[in-house]
Amino acid sequence: MSKRAGIVGAGIAGARCAGLLAEAGWEVDVFEKSRGAGGRLSTRRLENGWATLGAPLVSAARAPFRAQLDTWAREGGLVPVTGGLVGRANKGWAQAGLEHHYRVAVEPSRLVRQLSGSARVYPATRVSAVRPHALVLEDGRALEGYDRVIVGVPAPQAVALLDALPTLKERLAGVHYRPVWSFLMRWEGGPEADVIRFEDHLLALAVRQTGGGEGLWAVHSTHGFAETYLDAHEMEASTRGASALMGLLGLPWPVEVEASHLWRYARPENPVGHGWIDAPDAGAVLIGDGIAGVGVERAWESGTGAAQAILQAA
Ligand SMILES: Cc1cc2nc3c(=O)[nH]c(=O)nc-3n(C[C@H](O)[C@H](O)[C@H](O)COP(=O)(O)OP(=O)(O)OC[C@H]3O[C@@H](n4cnc5c(N)ncnc54)[C@H](O)[C@@H]3O)c2cc1C
Repeated sequence: MSKRAGIVGAGIAGARCAGLLAEAGWEVDVFEKSRGAGGRLSTRRLENGWATLGAPLVSAARAPFRAQLDTWAREGGLVPVTGGLVGRANKGWAQAGLEHHYRVAVEPSRLVRQLSGSARVYPATRVSAVRPHALVLEDGRALEGYDRVIVGVPAPQAVALLDALPTLKERLAGVHYRPVWSFLMRWEGGPEADVIRFEDHLLALAVRQTGGGEGLWAVHSTHGFAETYLDAHEMEASTRGASALMGLLGLPWPVEVEASHLWRYARPENPVGHGWIDAPDAGAVLIGDGIAGVGVERAWESGTGAAQAILQAA
């Protein structure tokens, strides 16, 4: 009989882990609370396309993920960043070092979904608790008999699921995430670039979108801005963001804000620092950036490493 895994979260860590286990013949169920895969790589649908509200850039520092990005780039899913600037209008711009950085040219949720291969993904299905070898869904159903249950969600969300696994819960107690406000903004003029890193305390980054029509950018706040506007209405946060942007770019034109999103758990400040955490007695594994470290590459590596270790142990 094939081995069975139940995975919480179809972000890049969960999807990658799911795909590798399924490829090795495991029966894999992935439960995702949102309507689709992607997690913090998800996008916003627009009338004329889509745009990134989550991670707008991917990059690889190490060979395995570099090979993954090369594959996606060859298939047309990623485009290399060609022009990046750092600075602010009144102090001048310098070239930003963005070698091996890519923007997404197809919806990243599709790339993430592809990673999960033949695993069964259940969208709009929230897990409310994780128990040894079992998951409990929000509607109260308990799904038992998994050889492994794998939790691939931000650490504070994982903590809420782990009452029945206190030792694992304890391991995550110190992991804090910092927030980011993310805006889709459209403007004319400004510096010629694909990516702008701001030297500023309010805004961190702007990335020109590959779709969604002319002049559409994803603009990200600093963590400090998001902490100040954590409970603000999106109108207040986006108005402040737009006025900061006009100052930073020296824009003569009004900036249109087309969407706003607050990511409460954008990046872990103090991840555990191991690729994954395995509790074989309970059949439970923790993966994701809160365990492995900040960024898409670490999250992918976490899903990869956990799947390889599980397969080896089996
Ligand atoms: C605004 C922003 C900008 C970023 N910029 C970059 C960047 O430029 N470069 C970079 O490398 N990284 C960047 N990151 C970080 C990067 O996106 C993350 O490190 C990475 O995507 C984390 O992947 P993950 O699989 O660990 O978690 P996630 O992507 O968060 O996936 C977790 C999934 O679990 C689901 N979930 C949560 N709870 C439950 C539950 N109870 N039941 C079922 N499903 C659940 C969530 O809906 C989500 O889909 C950025 C992040 C943000 C928010």
